Order: sequence, then C-alpha cells, then structure tokens
Amino acid sequence: MATSAGMSTGVSIGTMAWAERGACREVDPDSLFVPGAAQHRAKRVCASCPVRVDCLAEALDNRMEFGIWGGMTERERRSLLRRRPDVVSWRPLLDATALRTAAAAQ
Ligand code: SF4
Repeated sequence: MATSAGMSTGVSIGTMAWAERGACREVDPDSLFVPGAAQHRAKRVCASCPVRVDCLAEALDNRMEFGIWGGMTERERRSLLRRRPDVVSWRPLLDATALRTAAAAQ
C-alpha cells in the first residue's frame, strides 16, 4: 500500500514497515483510491507485489474501508469479511491459503 494510504486511513506507518517494499511505492497513492470499476485496473500493480499478503492482512485485520489493499478492491474485501466474520487475525489464514495454492500448482 502506498505510504500515504496508511496516513489517510489512520494506520500508523510505523506498524507498516512492509509498505516500503510494496510494488505501489512508486505510484501515485491516489491511484489506489479510485471509485468503482477503476479499482480493477488499479489493483494490477499488486500482482507482482512481494508484500501482498502483509498488505491484505493489514487491511482485513483493520477493516480498511477504502482503496486497494493486497490486490483486493473495497467490495472484494467487504465480501470476504462478510463470509468469514469469525476471523480476527488474517495473516495465518492467508499464509495457509498461499501454501495450499503453491502445493496445488506443483
Ligand atoms: S499489495 Fe498492492 S496495495 Fe499493497 S503494497 Fe503491494 S502493490 Fe501496494
């Protein structure tokens, strides 16, 4: 997530050291906070991001309402949170999912 996004959402930058390695660090932060269908274009930057899981976990754990985080649009995150209201900490679940995906690809 572009650094200024953290500021606009109230999340302390100090807790998001991973953001410095984000693929979006060189893009205009406002480009990640676009409305509607434009979000699907905006999230392309996340496809090769090395901190995608960190970013998505941060957004889900903190119920970030706006912007692209971890390759997901606002609507996609809301849908996921509705389907899994039981999850308090997303990082372990996202890591396990990534491992299953990697194993299935072999
Ligand atoms: S996953 Fe996307 S929004 Fe998050 S740091 Fe990476 S490029 Fe930025």
